[in-house]
Amino acid sequence: MNRKHDSLETNVSQQPQLQRLLRQAVSEKGMAHAYLLSGPDSSGLVRAALTVACSGKCKEKRAVPCGLCSECTRVIEGNHPDIHLVCPDGDTLKLEQVLRLQSVLHMKSNEAGDKVGIMADAENMSLPAANSLLKILEDPPAKTTIILTARNAGRLPPTVLSRCQEVRLSPLPPEAMAERLVAGGVEAPQAQLAARLCQGDEERARRWLDGQDLLDLTCQIAGDITSLHEEDPLMLAQRWENRGKDKDDLSLQLEIGLLLFRDALVSKAQEDSASQIAVAHDLSLDLDVQGLSDCIRMVLRTQDYIRSRVNARLALDAMFMALRGVIRYAGSCRDSF
Ligand SMILES: [Zn+2]
Repeated sequence: MNRKHDSLETNVSQQPQLQRLLRQAVSEKGMAHAYLLSGPDSSGLVRAALTVACSGKCKEKRAVPCGLCSECTRVIEGNHPDIHLVCPDGDTLKLEQVLRLQSVLHMKSNEAGDKVGIMADAENMSLPAANSLLKILEDPPAKTTIILTARNAGRLPPTVLSRCQEVRLSPLPPEAMAERLVAGGVEAPQAQLAARLCQGDEERARRWLDGQDLLDLTCQIAGDITSLHEEDPLMLAQRWENRGKDKDDLSLQLEIGLLLFRDALVSKAQEDSASQIAVAHDLSLDLDVQGLSDCIRMVLRTQDYIRSRVNARLALDAMFMALRGVIRYAGSCRDSF
C-alpha cells in the first residue's frame, strides 16, 4: 500500500466538513479566499491544509487529491513554488513571517493555478502579525487562498476569525490514532494507552511517548490514588510536582488520573453486564458511582485551574485533599455497616 495515498485518504475519510470543502474547491465555485482549519491535532491540521492545497494542483482533478501524482508529491514534500507553509518561529508566528508570506503571495504565480499560503498554529500569532495578516485577508491578491490552522481558534482575534471560513476537524477516534502510532513504530499497548490519553492530539501523544513508559507511569499514578487512604495528600501533591519536569508532564499525570477514574466508573456502571471494558489499570478503590463522579469532577476542575494559571502546587494540594475526603468518606460509610 502506498503510504502517501493512504494518508491523504485517511485525512479526509472521517472529516465531513473537510470533504465538503474539497468538493467545493474542485467545483465551479472554487476555493474561498481564506479558511481556518480548527481541531485538536496540530499536525493533523497541517496535513489537512496540505491536502486542500493538493486539491487545486492534483493532476487527477478529483475531489480527494490522489497524493501520488507529481503535483501532489511536490505539495506534500514542500517543493511546490506556489504553496507556502509557514510554521511558528519558536513559540510565535512573527510579523516578519507574515510580511514575507504576503510579499510572495503578491507576486505572480510561478505556475498555472492558485497560490496557497498556509499558516500553522495561527493562534500563536503575535498581535502585529495578526494586524498585518488582516490586510491580506481584507484585500487578498487574485487567485490566492490563505489557510490558517489552529487548535484553539478562540485565541485568534475576532477580526481575523470573521474573515475566514472555519472548517472544524473532528479528533481521530482512539483506535485510529493508535493505528497511526503503531505504524510509526510505537508498541501496541503503549500506543493504545497514549491514544486514549491524548484527546485526539497526535503530537501530544508522541511527546508523551518520547522516552517514557506510559504503562509504568499509569501504575504509579494508580498506586498514588489508592494510597490516599493512608498517605498524606500534601506528600502526594509534592510527588506529582516532582515527577514532572514541566506543565506538560503534570497535565499527563492529570489525564492518567482522569482515565483511571473514568474506567473505574464505566466498570462500575457495567458491573452487572456481561461486557467489561479493557481498563488502563484497575483502581483498587471501593467507590460508588457518585464517589467516582466526584473524583472525576475534582480532576477536571484541577485541569481548569492549571490552564488558567493557578499555582500548580496549590491546585494539586487542593485536589488531593478533596480526593482523600471522598475516598475516606466512602470508607467510613462502608465501615459503619
Ligand atoms: Zn495528485
